[in-house]
Amino acid sequence: MILKKPFTVWLTGLSGAGKTTLAAGVQQLLGQEGIRAAVLDGDIVRKKLFPELGFTKKDRELNVKRIAHMARLINDNGIPAIVSAISPYRSGRASARAVTREMLEIFVECPPEICEKRDVKGLYRKARAGRIDNFTWVSDPYEEPDRPDLIVRTHKEAADRCAERILELLTTRGYIK
Ligand code: ADP
Repeated sequence: MILKKPFTVWLTGLSGAGKTTLAAGVQQLLGQEGIRAAVLDGDIVRKKLFPELGFTKKDRELNVKRIAHMARLINDNGIPAIVSAISPYRSGRASARAVTREMLEIFVECPPEICEKRDVKGLYRKARAGRIDNFTWVSDPYEEPDRPDLIVRTHKEAADRCAERILELLTTRGYIK
C-alpha cells in the first residue's frame, strides 16, 4: 500500500471506549503496509506538554486545539497522524477539523456503563469518589458526534475489526491505496 495524502484519524469517545487500543491497532496495520503514522495520545500530550491545563471546558478546548495543531504539523511533514482524545465537545472537534483539514472523525462508541466497568485507568472509580472534577460522563458532558466519518462500536466489534474498518475508510476516501 502507499500513502496518497497525509490525514488525521481523530478518535473521539469516552474514557475506556477503546481509543488508545484502536490508535495502536491502526498504527500497526498501517505499519504492516509500509506506512508510518504518528500517534498523539491525548492523555500523554496533556501530561507532558500541557500540565497546566485542567478539565474545565475552556482548558479541554485548548487541549484539543493544540493537539489539532500538532496533528496538522505532522501532516504538513507528510506523515499521517492518529489522535486519541476524548474531545468531548462538538465545537472542539469542529475546530480540530478546521485546523487539520484532512480529518476523519471516528466515533469510538461504547455504552458508558461498559466503559465504567472496564475502567482501564481506574479513573471512573476516582471520579465517583470525588477525586476528579469534570470527569466526562460522571460529572461533565460528552457530546456525541452528529455526523462522524465512521462509528465503531467496541462493545460489539472486536478491536481488530474496528481497526480494519478504519483502514477501509482510509482506502475509500483515497488517503491510502
Ligand atoms: P480509551 O483510550 O478510550 O480510554 P483504552 O483503549 O485505554 O480506552 O481502553 C479500552 C479497553 O477496552 C481496553 O482494555 C481494550 O482491550 C478493551 N476493548 C474491548 N473491546 C475493544 C474494542 N473492540 N476496541 C477497543 N478496545 C476494546
